[in-house]
Amino acid sequence: MCCLSKMEKDLCNTALAQGGIAGVYNSPEDKPEYHKHDTFVAGGFENDPESTDVLVNEAKIDIARLIELGCDFDKKPDGDYHRTLEGGHGMHRIFHHKDSTGAEIERTLLASVNALDNVTVLENAVICDVKKTGTGFSFLVLKDGAFTTYNCHCTIFATGGIGRVYEFTTNSPIATGDGITMAYNMGAEIRHLSYIQFHPTAFNDEHTRQCFLISEAVRGEGAYLRNCDKERFMHNYDKRLELAPRDVVSHSIIFEAKRTGSNKFYLDITHKDPDFIRNRFPMIYKNLMNAGIDMTKDLIPIFPCHHYLMGGINVDTYARTNIPGLYACGECSHTGVHGNNRLASNSLLEALVFSRRAAGDIANRLADCKDGFEEYPFSVDPDAPEMPKGLRTQIRAIMQKAYFVLPNIAELGPGLKKVTEIKDMLYNGNFRTDKDYVEAKSLATVAYIVLSEAWKIATENAEITKSKHP
Ligand SMILES: Cc1cc2nc3c(=O)[nH]c(=O)nc-3n(C[C@H](O)[C@H](O)[C@H](O)COP(=O)(O)OP(=O)(O)OC[C@H]3O[C@@H](n4cnc5c(N)ncnc54)[C@H](O)[C@@H]3O)c2cc1C
Repeated sequence: MCCLSKMEKDLCNTALAQGGIAGVYNSPEDKPEYHKHDTFVAGGFENDPESTDVLVNEAKIDIARLIELGCDFDKKPDGDYHRTLEGGHGMHRIFHHKDSTGAEIERTLLASVNALDNVTVLENAVICDVKKTGTGFSFLVLKDGAFTTYNCHCTIFATGGIGRVYEFTTNSPIATGDGITMAYNMGAEIRHLSYIQFHPTAFNDEHTRQCFLISEAVRGEGAYLRNCDKERFMHNYDKRLELAPRDVVSHSIIFEAKRTGSNKFYLDITHKDPDFIRNRFPMIYKNLMNAGIDMTKDLIPIFPCHHYLMGGINVDTYARTNIPGLYACGECSHTGVHGNNRLASNSLLEALVFSRRAAGDIANRLADCKDGFEEYPFSVDPDAPEMPKGLRTQIRAIMQKAYFVLPNIAELGPGLKKVTEIKDMLYNGNFRTDKDYVEAKSLATVAYIVLSEAWKIATENAEITKSKHP
């Protein structure tokens, strides 16, 4: 078995996850039904009931497995696990390792993968193209300047999200939608790519594009949101106040920005004990101190920014796509568990639950596969010129204007036209195949799918309004 990572293996969204992993495990007062209810409320009741049942009922299997593999979740003095609360959860059910849970889960999983003799992990190996063959799939991989073709019977895309299609995102540089693009080009069904989550509280640092996230758990521990006049305002928008689901809080900030005419917003946890803050949020505390903000005394400047993709490559409850042998897991997949808005800390859980189920399904499937592979004859032109400069910047600017937090109806049409032109130029021109080109093609493709979907929804809504008020 071979695992490929296009940059260093710890450079990914998983490593950035702060808050934790949700799940009902050894918690007498909580129930999977309650977790399902909260997931549905956050997801606007657009969640898939079957896959959500799998998610909440099987959480205990994967949390127990992580603990067995050595994942160091925080504990209380009595030895039980400390479960924290985040926006949209009705119970304390988030397992966490301080405020760097993703890095701890990744450390745990990589250590166990490294101990397996039958798994090869290749870093800095960019998948440039994938084709369906008679026996499975052929991959064109670029590593250390050389192209190699890899063949397999089954493949799992776990290629992450699309954050880098925006100017302002919490996502890692690898999040360019490569897997979604390659699956789309092979004919896989892509669903709800315009279901994008904008996190309400990214650190508003005007100097960097990768926004540092101020975890939901900070509000879970009692932080207030304040507007440009340093006043709390969430009571004007939702009775759950600061603990309303993410989309509600992000929309409230945008509405409040329109009302006040200012984009200045703050998170305030200065009323809590400084030692508690430093111990509970060591990474956030350190990063803010580096930016000159002491969160035990100062207000933290925040603003919404792109964070997560609910849609993706459509899969069933075994992570199977509509293409036999092709599976998709994690953020690039659409299992339907998130509905139109993900409940905090459900994505690490989704990745674990459905990838375990995919692995079981693949084991059964491989038993029926014959030896030997057909290989797709990829051809790469070594003399092709570099693609034109500045295309990625153009795509990001279009997305930022046309669809940030809420769709901008006036910008959707022109934005879609422009990304379609860029996409067609990239696909039809003869350009050098390298990481930059692969990622630009992916960004153009996902921007095209997102804006097409948003445009369709906007025009359908306009039709409905017209028919109601002719
Ligand atoms: C700042 C931040 C905080 C978060 N906090 C939480 C949280 O508290 N709880 C929670 O549940 N979720 C959280 N999330 C979301 C969660 O971390 C992600 O949804 C999840 O980790 C995604 O995992 P993944 O395996 O799908 O993708 P990733 O972890 O991003 O991994 C994608 C992998 O695909 C590889 N890849 C991509 N394209 C190619 C290619 N062309 N060739 C080869 N390899 C390729 C990359 O190299 C990478 O290794 C957070 C996300 C962010 C950004």
